[in-house]
Amino acid sequence: MIKKLFIFLFIALNLYAAKPSVEELTWPNGESLLMFLENNKIPLSLYYNLEKEDQELASEITTGTRFQILRDDDDEISQVLIPISDELQIHIHKDKIGKFNLDFIPIIYENEDRILSIDINRSPYQDIIENTGNLALASAFMNAFKGSVDFRGLKKGDKLIITYSQKRRMGRVFSTPDIKAAMIQIRGKAEYVYQYDGRFYDKFGKELENFFLVKPVKNARISSRFTPKRFHPILKRYRAHLGMDYAAPKGTKIYAAGDGTVSFAGKKGGYGNVLTINHADGYMTLYAHVNGFASGMKRGKSVKKGQLVAYVGNTGMSTGPHLHFGLYKNNKAINPESVVKITKSALGGKEKAEFNALVATYNKDIDKGLGDHKNYPKEETFESVITF
Ligand SMILES: [Zn+2]
Repeated sequence: MIKKLFIFLFIALNLYAAKPSVEELTWPNGESLLMFLENNKIPLSLYYNLEKEDQELASEITTGTRFQILRDDDDEISQVLIPISDELQIHIHKDKIGKFNLDFIPIIYENEDRILSIDINRSPYQDIIENTGNLALASAFMNAFKGSVDFRGLKKGDKLIITYSQKRRMGRVFSTPDIKAAMIQIRGKAEYVYQYDGRFYDKFGKELENFFLVKPVKNARISSRFTPKRFHPILKRYRAHLGMDYAAPKGTKIYAAGDGTVSFAGKKGGYGNVLTINHADGYMTLYAHVNGFASGMKRGKSVKKGQLVAYVGNTGMSTGPHLHFGLYKNNKAINPESVVKITKSALGGKEKAEFNALVATYNKDIDKGLGDHKNYPKEETFESVITF
């Protein structure tokens, strides 16, 4: 309460005298990094001087991302921090002689392991939000159980338990929570899901998701793989590649990697012409640098796995004709290869043994949640401007 009062006082003072401040903003729909620089009178050369690979990476900024602007005594921008993934953020900063620089730096975050245990009053989705203030957790929970449990049988007083880890950046929850296991009672009968290697299984190790991808291009060579973050020892800087590149001649047919609905077809910064498709269970695929779209491809159009959707091209920041293929789960870029390759639906052998060991650990956490357990306090919402 006292802290809030201080913030309020400082904001009031700020009306009369400029003070250094941090402003937290939400990335607007459809804005590119280039537009952002232009709107804030930051030299566009910052963008144009980037290597193509980094210009492409800058297209990963997503609508709704929380980012920070630091201003100096004269109310001029001195620093900007924009996350592009869980691992990396764009860092724009003014040096001593007043010249702007741009680089990619790691995001510093903490990981907190949590157990949430609640009684259901209205619906799992609403009750999770009410208890945690965490929308992403509610969505991730629904996606984890999707298709395997019928929530219509729920009655008041049924319990749900989630064991998960949550990233925290600058004191706020950050990114999608990672659900390890979850339990929900349906009229008192417990149903479980367990995560293993990024996918959800029932207690017998049978896969609950039936989402598998087909290759978006046929007979194409992989020219670049998925890299969440790596430090380039010679260039002495961080880079990332949040998808897979398939080298293919211009005009090569691109097929939908799974059943879904087109969520975007248009230009997206360094990615050039982009098509995105939303799939079941919180998955999304992205097809970038395409030359053109198959007819009728626009937002809302439903597509079948293997359907022609676009043609390979060289649009945006691209060094030659290729398809940049991205896969996202709950808005987080993941390695497409892990989902393209898997064909079996139940774990066996060594994997099954690992899975059983995990289940035993996670069940202990679920038992903790069933006992005398106290949840983390609900996330607070903060004012968007903090002055010093
Ligand atoms: Zn790429």
